[in-house]
Amino acid sequence: MKIVIVGAGGRMGAANIRAVTDLDGVVLHGAVDRAGTDAIGKDAGSFAGIDPLGVFISDNIEAALEGADAVIDFTIPAASVALAAQTGARGLVHIIGTTGCSPEQDATIAGAGKAGGRIVKSGNFSMGVTLLANLVRKASAALLTYDIEILEMHHNKKVDAPSGTALLLGEAAAEGRDIKLGDHAVRVRDGHTGAREPGSIGFATLRGGTVVGEHSVIFAGPSERLELAHRAEDRAIFANGAARAALWARDQKPGLYGMDDVLGLTH
Ligand code: NAP
Repeated sequence: MKIVIVGAGGRMGAANIRAVTDLDGVVLHGAVDRAGTDAIGKDAGSFAGIDPLGVFISDNIEAALEGADAVIDFTIPAASVALAAQTGARGLVHIIGTTGCSPEQDATIAGAGKAGGRIVKSGNFSMGVTLLANLVRKASAALLTYDIEILEMHHNKKVDAPSGTALLLGEAAAEGRDIKLGDHAVRVRDGHTGAREPGSIGFATLRGGTVVGEHSVIFAGPSERLELAHRAEDRAIFANGAARAALWARDQKPGLYGMDDVLGLTH
């Protein structure tokens, strides 16, 4: 399977290049980043800290998509939305790890799935977080009266908050209670907020250093607290999941899928 890495010059781009090189059944077909970035023109392998691959990072997405089967895209929302139109029109597999999309951007991406793309989009491609979301859904349903708080910490370069993973875990908690996250999320607290609204799902965000990603979902009840947590130690967990998702999506009908589908955990 011929894969193009978009956002190749980024932190996840380098991890994705290494993952695609390591996995049987896939080859690096192209590597693309934004025009004008330092990575343009560099060998993708050397850039990612492995042996040279003879594939050079380019800013020409059209040329890179020629002859490709799939795209792995960890970039920014506007870039992923624009790319979804191209992968949809070409009927390609499109793995989207980009977080921070607005509801309108998510709707446009879903439309590209209907138009012919085989899209897998997730706020977290690791096996651990995908399983954690399933555990959160169950705990949320079982501990109906407990207060739910989601705490996350990431490196100091992260640009969106709460993280895509925190929101994914919030969605799982909301699903467990058959409510809509948008109606119950409290994403920021500051000043005289008053008492906690019963049934709300709170988020707290920490930023600093080089933390790859840490998430805790806290169920706080009378006289006890259950905490479900995940700590990412290396971006390889996301990149390996994304490459695995690309292989899986090759055999699916056009549409929009998540990591639950890839791992056969659909509830
Ligand atoms: P990053 O280091 O900033 O990398 C993003 C890359 O995309 C940069 O090289 C950026 O170039 C490039 N880019 C921007 N616009 C582009 C365009 N139009 N075409 C091609 N490339 C473009 O960020 P990161 O840490 O790798 O994270 C990237 C995204 O993945 C974020 O949304 C992050 O939250 C998400 N993420 C998801 C998961 C998951 O499992 N779903 C895991 C980790 C991270 P410039 O720097 O030159 O602008």
